[in-house]
Amino acid sequence: MNKIIDGTQISEDIFNSIKNDISKNVGINKIGLAFILVGEDSASKTYVNMKKRACARVGILSLDYELPANSREIEIIDLIHKLNSDPKVHGILVQQPFPLHIDTKRVVFEIDPKKDVDGFHPMNLGKMMVGDTDCFYPCTPLGIKNLIEKSNIELEKKHVVICGRSNIVGKPLATLLVQNQKGCNATVTITHRLTENLGFYTKQADILISAVGKPKFITEDMVKEGGVVIDVGMNRLNNKLVGDVDYDNVFPKVSKITPVPGGVGPMTIVSLLSNTYKSYFKSQIFLCDY
Ligand code: NAP
Repeated sequence: MNKIIDGTQISEDIFNSIKNDISKNVGINKIGLAFILVGEDSASKTYVNMKKRACARVGILSLDYELPANSREIEIIDLIHKLNSDPKVHGILVQQPFPLHIDTKRVVFEIDPKKDVDGFHPMNLGKMMVGDTDCFYPCTPLGIKNLIEKSNIELEKKHVVICGRSNIVGKPLATLLVQNQKGCNATVTITHRLTENLGFYTKQADILISAVGKPKFITEDMVKEGGVVIDVGMNRLNNKLVGDVDYDNVFPKVSKITPVPGGVGPMTIVSLLSNTYKSYFKSQIFLCDY
């Protein structure tokens, strides 16, 4: 049995079906995704470029809005309002982190929830929490759920332990996996910096998900024999991209594991594309709703 969960291959399959659907049902560059980048953060630029390349491959038009680091909050909000009412724009992505003087929550709140393809608006997060599927799920949690499903790993009745409680990964992921919905129904434990005796929890995990941001954080003594390990971490170590998991030592002990790179990362990007495609369709239904 292949132990490695191949996020690159799984995302490529989803990617190709989105590409086919767009070319068959919509047409190239008819769906618009606006990227707002504030400042010169080089990691943010890299992430935006990766997402833009993925858009180009499936036929989604990227619209670039690069603002200087000293932009005022109101300027970003004015731009968002303009994009909210532009029918050519089906998704709005504000690349985080922002420069420190900008209140991220306030800016995200101004995005029309119908165009919030990142799934960070409180309206979308709240809908997800109450089990409403008519919303956008945040891309990384959605990508992880799809990765688990497409790898034929059962979630129902399983104990999932998540390390990390950020608003973009840990918390929404826990909310999603615990839902009373087909393909979810996991029992979820969420841990954080102040969790005492972390290994006590991680060793009980049928599925252990680490979203902490520290290399070699998950060691072999922290995982359950035969468990599944999903590594969300993206860290630079000796000029190499690595996850949170001490991969070589954990690998022999588990039944399945995601590599870094090539695990969760590509699934996050493909989730952004599927949310944008979904947004386009929802906008068309709205137009025909007379
Ligand atoms: P974050 O906002 O910094 O959150 C990290 C979380 O880890 C926090 O909740 C923190 O707890 C927790 N933590 C820190 N030390 C811990 C400990 N000793 N035990 C248990 N929990 C601990 O980071 P993030 O944005 O969620 O990202 C996490 C990692 O995932 C990063 O490496 C990031 O680059 C990566 N990431 C990857 C993708 C992808 O697509 N592959 C997407 C997003 C993020 P406190 O809340 O108590 O501080």
